[in-house]
Amino acid sequence: MSIYGTVPVKLFIDKVNKKVLFAESDKDFVDILFSFLTLPLGTIVRRLGKQSQLGCLDELYKSVESLSEDHFQTKACKSMLLRPVNAAAFQCDRLKVQIDDENSRRFYVCCASNCKKMTPVKVNYCNCGSGTSSWECPHNVFGTVEGNDDGTFLKSGLKFIVTDDLQVSPASTTLVFSLLDRFGLQEQAKIEEKIFQLNAHMVCIYNCITNFFSFLHISARRKSDCEIRLHLLTTTTLMFFQIISLLQRASLSKQPLTGLYFDVPLSQDAVNIDQLPKIPKQGDGSFFAIKIKLVHTKDDSSELYAEVGEDFVDLIFGLLCFPLGSVIRTYGQMSPNGCIGNLYNSIDGSANGCVKSECEYLLRTPKLAPFFGCSRDVLQAEELCPRRVTSSCLKCYRTTSQVCTTHTKPLSATVKEMNPKYADNESYYNNGKAYIKGGPRNFLVTDDLRVIHFSLTNTLQVMRAAKVPKEELVEKQLSLDKTQVMKLVRAALVTRGALSSVLLPPKK
Ligand SMILES: [Zn+2]
Ligand SMILES: [Zn+2]
Repeated sequence: MSIYGTVPVKLFIDKVNKKVLFAESDKDFVDILFSFLTLPLGTIVRRLGKQSQLGCLDELYKSVESLSEDHFQTKACKSMLLRPVNAAAFQCDRLKVQIDDENSRRFYVCCASNCKKMTPVKVNYCNCGSGTSSWECPHNVFGTVEGNDDGTFLKSGLKFIVTDDLQVSPASTTLVFSLLDRFGLQEQAKIEEKIFQLNAHMVCIYNCITNFFSFLHISARRKSDCEIRLHLLTTTTLMFFQIISLLQRASLSKQPLTGLYFDVPLSQDAVNIDQLPKIPKQGDGSFFAIKIKLVHTKDDSSELYAEVGEDFVDLIFGLLCFPLGSVIRTYGQMSPNGCIGNLYNSIDGSANGCVKSECEYLLRTPKLAPFFGCSRDVLQAEELCPRRVTSSCLKCYRTTSQVCTTHTKPLSATVKEMNPKYADNESYYNNGKAYIKGGPRNFLVTDDLRVIHFSLTNTLQVMRAAKVPKEELVEKQLSLDKTQVMKLVRAALVTRGALSSVLLPPKK
């Protein structure tokens, strides 16, 4: 298990200008960087305590939390959106430091012996109605290779140079010289080398120790003194940094290493949607237009809310399950202010040949976990095939390679992954993908994509909060085609005004 591990990274720092020039590391650090691409957006929001500042994602996440279970196909749908499973979880299991704190080897298996279904989603009941029991799948079952020196995604024995804006290249003297030239730093004296440690649970350790202080009933003054010392100890002497902070900075800034090292306050710069690359007109193919009703001011200056159906909500909630890499693949970048795109482009650019061939495709076209897609996906990601385990004992879920000695009549069978979105066992392999229940249920969505169920009280509340008199409001029926939906999804990832920035005329 690697959640308490640390990974050392050597930074080369320009002392005068307070800037990290580049980092030197072995494969462990770069493996972690590349693993960012496999993380579902909902996992990033959750690990950042719903304060990711990534467009509307925090609001979306909170909306899923507070929306009543009645609106979802099954109870499991809510857990799927709030704790999305990473399709590359078994590969990421080998990382020295992991962002995702979920146990990827835990499955919930149906207790009925004739059902033979399992799911990684935490469910108390199987689709068939029987209870489930949790089972931890052994390491070798889903084909991860153990016991060699290779990294998670990278070949072994390589050293890397990572620039402040996360361009990854294999280390070489030529490269270092050219970087120093680029920064105009011929004098070695100005450059300081510092090693810092990246870990996953810095806050956790810090909280543990501070809690311990309060346990000892140290006086308030003495306690704050201890806390300051502790803070200095953990950030300066040991120089621990949380890997999730690096991911957040990489999503929102072009200098994540400098930001992390010098603790630069993170500001969310406004993204002007009109300056983003144009999204080419999409062929609508099998895409059914999404009908919404927009309520906005007569002068088009602001959008109040939209009345939408379950198709729209399914689309935007579904975003939480898509891996970060699929956003880059579709739009070329996460946010124009961030630098995750550089990381993605390094795979077959500057770090070409460093990634193990079997992992190249996985990183460049990250998938969704089985059944985690939504009914209206516009991001380019496929679902992983549902998994199956052939078990030599259905009572204790031993795999075929292990012999059960506990049960007198071990019964062997193949256990398949079920679709947690459907209570109906018949639709096990049906193509139903929606999280949200169909029917004439309307939802209300604000500009920053807060989703609440439609009711008079909620409508009045939004109107009151916006302080716009009723006379100044107009309604507009819209039918969103695939191109508009793609623009809307991109806006949702980079701005808080997702609806107005796409559906209202640009502000002068
Ligand atoms: Zn069952
Ligand atoms: Zn057994």
